[in-house]
Amino acid sequence: VKPFGCPACAGDDAAAAWEAIRGRRDSLAEDSHFGVSLGACACGQLHVVVFAERIDWAGGEDDQTWLALPVTAEEVELLRSLPEDRLEAAIVGLGSARRFLVRSFPTGGSLGTWWRDGGLVIPRHD
Ligand SMILES: [Zn+2]
Repeated sequence: VKPFGCPACAGDDAAAAWEAIRGRRDSLAEDSHFGVSLGACACGQLHVVVFAERIDWAGGEDDQTWLALPVTAEEVELLRSLPEDRLEAAIVGLGSARRFLVRSFPTGGSLGTWWRDGGLVIPRHD
């Protein structure tokens, strides 16, 4: 299997990888608390970026998570062909055995970015 990306978007430095894929954004689904967009590195590697937000009514600060999963152009075409209500399941399927970036801004916590594998789960969102 051909590895995804280049040293910039697939390197060990997760924060740098996150910056590398911010070059282009194209929305596939957009809601105030959930969104799916495409990001691309300068090397051409595409990523599906999922945004999920949970409103913390008590604390007034929202719990926000972004997940960035590297995908092929064929997979992007597949995702584009799906109705919005099937996007989440399709992305979870693609991310079941693939490393992805997590960027998390928890309620009351600080922003962090890291790599994760072992199965992509989209956080609950409002
Ligand atoms: Zn790259």
